[in-house]
Amino acid sequence: MPAEIKLPIYLDNHATTPLDPQVLEAMLPYLSGKFGNAASHSHAFGWEAASAVATARKQIASLIGASPQEIVFTSGATESDNLAITGVAESQKGKGNHIITVNTEHRAVLDTCLHLENSDRRITRLYVGADGLIDLDQLKAAFTPQTVLVSVMAANNEIGVLQPLKEIGELCREREVLFHSDAVQALGRMPLEVNALNLDLASLTAHKCYGPKGCGALYVRSGVKVAPIIHGGGHEGGMRSGTLNVPGIVGFGKACEIAKTNLPEESCRIAGLRNRLRDRLLAELDEVLINGSEEHRLPGNLNTSFLNVNGEDLMTAVKDVAVSSGSACHSDKIDASHVLKAIGRSDDEAGSAIRFGIGRFNTEAEVDYVAGRVIDAVKKLRELSIA
Ligand code: PLP
Repeated sequence: MPAEIKLPIYLDNHATTPLDPQVLEAMLPYLSGKFGNAASHSHAFGWEAASAVATARKQIASLIGASPQEIVFTSGATESDNLAITGVAESQKGKGNHIITVNTEHRAVLDTCLHLENSDRRITRLYVGADGLIDLDQLKAAFTPQTVLVSVMAANNEIGVLQPLKEIGELCREREVLFHSDAVQALGRMPLEVNALNLDLASLTAHKCYGPKGCGALYVRSGVKVAPIIHGGGHEGGMRSGTLNVPGIVGFGKACEIAKTNLPEESCRIAGLRNRLRDRLLAELDEVLINGSEEHRLPGNLNTSFLNVNGEDLMTAVKDVAVSSGSACHSDKIDASHVLKAIGRSDDEAGSAIRFGIGRFNTEAEVDYVAGRVIDAVKKLRELSIA
């Protein structure tokens, strides 16, 4: 093993990303001396905090081509998804009760829609093809005069597939329907420009772009009405009450500033590492399926099914490598991923899937080590299953 490799190797950057040291440095003063409440208007501690929040708002807005006042801070993307969907459903209830989404969305979107469906809203869940992409004709056919919102994620958290947001946004605009995207996995990893994509609302979170956990935002286009789901002091233009998480917000802002500078070079480098891993796995193993479109995909994502191998067994066999399997644990039972099922994988194929998420701090040496470990483990597990 090359001396520069430190175990375990983290290759699960869709679950979360490590905090960038520059982000930590920016946050530290706000965890000690600069502790003011950004809503304290009467003294210097509050002004200092408010000014730091204003800077972060600009940094986040600048990464997505928005105005700072269009950024609403939340506790993370789960809350942003809930706020966007429930808030629009409520504010638009005079206009209609129909929402369109996709069956490969994150649970934060699917479960919010299910909750609304249980109280008089109508939900259409679009299907995806074997490549994980939606069919725009199916979307066109799904609109009704009652449709108030379309919610389609930018990049899938399991298979990294990128949906055609610009085209979806155009269809929504033509019909005066609001368009929301859960853009968590895309932020800082690919260009994401709210005007070019015709987005009205976008959910963002800091911990998938080398910022801290527990801090997110909802982009809300100026003029779009979102009813609050949390009531209190009327912060964030009345859309989200609660004292702002100043250190988290400062970190989120810094993470966006770094992402904006690094994006073109970093996404190429990460795609190169992903391709290196994919090529080696495909060259040295048979019966490997790539899950999701290879063309429309996040640079750092690789999701593969190693046929006749159980993904959980494979992860146990390569304990010094942090990856995810194609299963999701819900309380006490393990289910095959709803995303892999939606692209037509069988239970066995989904159960043999591994998600690799390559990020900023991964190196070529790490990718080579992981490839070697996975290849050996798959071969051994297959031999055992024959024996
Ligand atoms: N949406 C997507 C696509 C995600 O990948 C995640 C994180 O797993 C979330 C929403 C939830 O984000 P948070 O952890 O900030 O609540």
